[in-house]
Amino acid sequence: MQEITSAEFEQEVISGGKVVLDFYSTECPPCEAVAPKFEGLAALYGKDIKFVKMFRQQNKPLAESLGVRSSPTLLFFDNGVQLPVTLTGGIKRSDIIHQLDSMLSKERVLEIKKAIKPTVSEFDVLILGAGPGGLTAGLYLCQAKVNTVLIDIALPGGQVSTTHEVSNYPGFIDPQPGYMLSHNMSEQTKQCGTIYKVAVDVTKIDLEKKEVVIDEFETVRAKKIIIATGTSPNLMGIPGEKEMKGKGISYCATCDAKYYGDKEVVVIGGGNSAVEEADFISRFASKITMVHQFDALTANKQAQEKLFANPKTSILFSHEPRSFVREGDKMITEVEDLKTKTVSKLASDGVFVFIGMKPNIDLFRDKLELDNWGYIKTNEDMQTSMPGIYAVGDVISKKYRQITTAVADGTIAAIAIAKELN
Ligand SMILES: Cc1cc2nc3c(=O)[nH]c(=O)nc-3n(C[C@H](O)[C@H](O)[C@H](O)COP(=O)(O)OP(=O)(O)OC[C@H]3O[C@@H](n4cnc5c(N)ncnc54)[C@H](O)[C@@H]3O)c2cc1C
Repeated sequence: MQEITSAEFEQEVISGGKVVLDFYSTECPPCEAVAPKFEGLAALYGKDIKFVKMFRQQNKPLAESLGVRSSPTLLFFDNGVQLPVTLTGGIKRSDIIHQLDSMLSKERVLEIKKAIKPTVSEFDVLILGAGPGGLTAGLYLCQAKVNTVLIDIALPGGQVSTTHEVSNYPGFIDPQPGYMLSHNMSEQTKQCGTIYKVAVDVTKIDLEKKEVVIDEFETVRAKKIIIATGTSPNLMGIPGEKEMKGKGISYCATCDAKYYGDKEVVVIGGGNSAVEEADFISRFASKITMVHQFDALTANKQAQEKLFANPKTSILFSHEPRSFVREGDKMITEVEDLKTKTVSKLASDGVFVFIGMKPNIDLFRDKLELDNWGYIKTNEDMQTSMPGIYAVGDVISKKYRQITTAVADGTIAAIAIAKELN
């Protein structure tokens, strides 16, 4: 693995051969999540494809000239030519593999895959998801001497690690940077001795067999499973969103707001996340236009008052985005006035989308009893409808989704399981 600068780009990337280039940033949890996958794949594919990385903040002009607008972004080159696929955001290991495989012959791919040996490991408890809920369950189980593994598709910390400030977690007088709070939670659980398998691809989950396959070849079995997979941001699902994701459209202010210094930004949404994140983005951007479908914000009063007092921010009420297009340097958001039905264009340098969340249950959707909104139903011990399967945190059916409530759920599940295993 080689770290290069813009000055070495010609020689290391363009001069020939097959190359994958990772543009990363600091204080960027998705970059940290991709780093171990990138390194692991470098060990597998390194004889055929050169793996290099570049610090985006210090090589901004080159990054921009290559169309890189968020971190991390992986670009692929073959004999000096940039390939059309760009991977960005929460990059999956399988997405990288798919692209790397397409750059090699079928025979060579088979040889590389043959070198991987399947493994099986066994634990008392397997926790899926290392956010506050999963980390707390891991801590309590570890302290109860229960052999526990924590599996996450990203780095530990969950949503807290991408929240710029947390002011309502008890025990801290001053607001805490989200990444620090999640880092401390994770270190506490790790230092106790819980096994971590993070930044992996979860290939398959078999709740009946209590078995999870990660990174295609590693099977992890347990007597009990705790699902703590949290929620993910909803997408708008309108034309241009998929194409511009990571190239002008972002879902993470902590990751990307710093790239909009003195620039104009559109923020979509009007709930707590949208309002709080707009406030954070205004530390960098010169102007923020919020687009909200209702005629009043739904965020709490305190957050609203702060936003209304911010001279950089204006709000388009009763408007909904219809499409995103790029015109030169500008992102054009077409918005419809829901009252007059007229469509107008908003030009900006970037768009942030905060329109609510959905539960992360894709790999076991049909196996468990869910509520009308797709959240997992549990009893007071956090047990789901399937024996031996527990669920905690934002992924379960409940009224209030906060760090404190996730932590409480994790505590309850862990104590209940520890007692049962005894
Ligand atoms: C912008 C924003 C600001 C917020 N601010 C606050 C605040 O100030 N105070 C507060 O109390 N709460 C806040 N919250 C809410 C708080 O972050 C959540 O309630 C809390 O993180 C929930 O914890 P969790 O462990 O249930 O899930 P998460 O924190 O979402 O963690 C879930 C974990 O599961 C992993 N995962 C997902 N799918 C899989 C899979 N298939 N296999 C394995 N792992 C998987 C994810 O990578 C993630 O690490 C905020 C949320 C947002 C979005």
